[in-house]
Amino acid sequence: MHLAEHTTTTAADALADAEVVLFPTGSTEQHGPALPLGMDHVAARALARSVDREDAVVLPTLPVGVSEHHRQFHGTLWVTDRTFERFVRETLSSVASHGVRKAVVVNGHGGNDAAIRRAARSLRQDGTAFAAPWNWWESVDDLTEELFEEGGGHADAAETSVLWHVAGDLVREDALEEAAAGASDSWGKRVHGASVGVDTLDVSESGAVGDPTQASPEAGQRLFERASAELDALVDWLADREFETLLPPEHE
Ligand SMILES: [Zn+2]
Repeated sequence: MHLAEHTTTTAADALADAEVVLFPTGSTEQHGPALPLGMDHVAARALARSVDREDAVVLPTLPVGVSEHHRQFHGTLWVTDRTFERFVRETLSSVASHGVRKAVVVNGHGGNDAAIRRAARSLRQDGTAFAAPWNWWESVDDLTEELFEEGGGHADAAETSVLWHVAGDLVREDALEEAAAGASDSWGKRVHGASVGVDTLDVSESGAVGDPTQASPEAGQRLFERASAELDALVDWLADREFETLLPPEHE
């Protein structure tokens, strides 16, 4: 069920039946010339909503993330990782006050990961909630490897494919070549072991990292369905556990 579509009256029963909340998080940031700025939050929302079960509540999507490294590209929005961490922690803490203390953060943007992990650690540490950070692309690593001949990373074949599946009209097919031509094949820039590339523009002219020309809607469907099944299995795992058993262990 989707929390924002309930009234406060009907939410009472829905929350009482819920074991787990799904909190979709993403970004509004450049994804090269072929994909929309909303790529990451559109994917996160679609995946969270694909898990359709009585014991899971889908929260509204957090659409702005930790994206300052894309700042030179038009349209990119960002907040600091401290702000993002607090937003995630305080939102899940408010859900916990309604009795649902197990959560999955269904994340669509790599830059949010560290902040989500810090939020999850502090919620667990103080006994407020248990949040599992879940990045969709990590749940389908092996399938991505099987489908594409590219390292990928951003606005790549996997992302393009998934968007093609969930919101096909948002993929600018005629700009895929341009995206690939100006792309980098990996993140960052290393010199004698030091990381010297800070912004995406340090390494990628088009904003893409990887080869989006390898994308297809069929590959997107396979990735989406596999990721959705993994997410559903994760919700099963969480639903089966008593909240207390998820808290930090005590030393004997
Ligand atoms: Zn992305």
